[in-house]
This record gives sequence, structure tokens and C-alpha cells, in this order.
Amino acid sequence: MTGLTTDGSRPLSRPTKRRHPGSLARILCLALVRSVTLLAQTFQLPTANHALFEPGREEQFFVGTVGKPWTSGCFGCVRSENWQMHEGLDIKCVQRDKHGEPEDPVRATADGVVAYITTHPALSNYGNYIVIAHRVDGLEVYSLYAHLKEVRPGLKAGDAVKAGDPIAVMGRTSNTRQGISKERAHVHFELNLLVNDRFAAWFEQACPGQRNDHGAWNGQNLLGLDPRAILLLQARQGPRFKLSAWLQNEPEICRVLVRATHFPWLRRYAALTQRNPVAERDGVAGYELALDFNGVPIRLTPRAASEIKSPAKFQLLSVNEPEYHQHPCRRLVISRGGQWQLTGHGTKLLEQLTF
Ligand SMILES: [Zn+2]
Repeated sequence: MTGLTTDGSRPLSRPTKRRHPGSLARILCLALVRSVTLLAQTFQLPTANHALFEPGREEQFFVGTVGKPWTSGCFGCVRSENWQMHEGLDIKCVQRDKHGEPEDPVRATADGVVAYITTHPALSNYGNYIVIAHRVDGLEVYSLYAHLKEVRPGLKAGDAVKAGDPIAVMGRTSNTRQGISKERAHVHFELNLLVNDRFAAWFEQACPGQRNDHGAWNGQNLLGLDPRAILLLQARQGPRFKLSAWLQNEPEICRVLVRATHFPWLRRYAALTQRNPVAERDGVAGYELALDFNGVPIRLTPRAASEIKSPAKFQLLSVNEPEYHQHPCRRLVISRGGQWQLTGHGTKLLEQLTF
């Protein structure tokens, strides 16, 4: 097993300053500043590649798709002329063995509990992957690390991990026909929110006869956030960074009304729910959801029956057109004859969310 120990030192806590004799106070002071910075950081990069924080060195950090620039390794509508979503960051390998194979240790981005490990690479384009559950700012966040060569021996679902703990070795596993070349070796890293823990039951009903090999840990049930935006803002804001505040300030692509009052998102992401005195007084008959371009319900407002105009199960209330034109790839809404409506994808996401 290469480059992986259960007691591996964390990259950010390893002393990197050269000691100056006689300046003990300065060393202590630096150590203090460093540990305060560490404490303040919610998320860490999952490998030793830290070029993300060095402006102009993006090409050293991101791996683009074959023949495409580094931007195609970012999060968002970055592929197929803005029409294909990439749900995470493809982080370039910085350590190779003598055969040129990647051997970067992959580390937990934050304190958490291992939720899922799969070592059946043929079952997914993610190859071998790990999902870790974190509690951040009252939100359940799920980090995902894909294309792994090896998972740390003995690591299993339910194990607690600390930020920076080694969990795996970078690899090139995937079930795609063309595979991942040595040159493009990377870890695919995601930060997600979980749509519905009843996903497996919903999927069986919504997609009869189709295989779901990963239970609730199917990629369709994880809605990605942009790890680059989060990591850069966190580096800028330090201890002031709040994930829930960042999320609620994200632009919405559309607003929908769902006639459902009990679904897991409300409990899991209660921090994203806003108050409405009318619904508090008269009772909640549904929720107004602001979705970001990836379909993440970023703001939820309870609505009373008197505030709901349509009897429809799902109603599209508004579309933010500039946001749609910038990030169309999730195809949640479409304009037909000058009228905006939810697409099949959009409706399916709402069905999954409120199941
Ligand atoms: Zn990727």
C-alpha cells in the first residue's frame, strides 16, 4: 500500500516553517495562528494539490476533459457547450509511482462519518468511491471522492474520520469505455446535499426495472454544491464563513410551489427554511422553493392555503432568465411559445424531493 497510513500527518498541520533559534515566542505565535486558522476551516482540500489557492495556477489544479481546457474540470455547466453538468472538481495528481500511476493520498475534507464505500468499480463511472457525511452549520453535507485506486484498509461505513485523515489512494477507476488515462489521473471531489433518504423506494417506483446499485448513495440523489466557490470564500472569510449563509445567497434559477408539507429535506436542511407569519398562524399547505441552477432548494418558505393560487401539485412561479441562460445544463425549466414551464427533469426532481 503506497502513501497511505492510518496515522498520516495532515498536510495543513505539518510544520513547514524553518525554525529560527531564539524566537520561541514567534514560533508559538505562528503555531497559534495556524491552529486558529485550522479550527476556522470547515473544509480542506482532499489532496496535497493546493494550486486552487494560487491565482493563475488553475491548470496545475484542474484536469480538463480530453482536448478541452482546465475549466471543463470545474463544477457546473462546464461541458458540451454549457449543456453538460460536471458535479464536482477534477483535481490533478501531484504524486506518481515509477510507472507514472497516481499515488496521492486522498484525505477527508472535514470531520465526519463514513456513509458509503463502494469497491465495485464496474458499477459506476465514479469507479471506487467514498461518501462521508458531515454536519456543517446545521446542514448535512456529503463529500464524495471518486476514481480511487484503493480505499484505506479497514475503513468502513460508520467510521468517524477527522479532517485530513487519509481515506484512500488516488486512482483511475471508472466504468466508462475509454477510461481515464494516466495523464488525466485525478480525484473527482464533490460536496453534496442529500435529496431524499427514501431514494431507493422512490427510484423503484419512478424507474421500474432500472438498476440502483448504490441505495441512497446514487449520484442522482446527491445535489452538488461548487467546492471551488466554497473553498475560496472560506479562505477569504476565515472564521466568518457560514455555509448556510453562502447557500442562501446563491442566485436562484426558478421558484416553485410544492403542495407537500412533510418531506425529508425540510428536516435535514431546516436551516434553509424562512419564516412566514401567515403560514405559522393559518397552517402550512405547501412550500415555496427557490432552486439554484443545479436544482438545490436553497430557500424554502412555508405557505398557507390562502397564499396558494393553483391546485397543481407543482407550480412554477418564476424563472430568473439571466441565470438560466448562464447555467442551462440541468434543464429544469424550458420556455415554450414564450411561456416558461417545468421540464420532465424538473418535475422528476420535485417528485424525488417530496416523495
Ligand atoms: Zn469529474
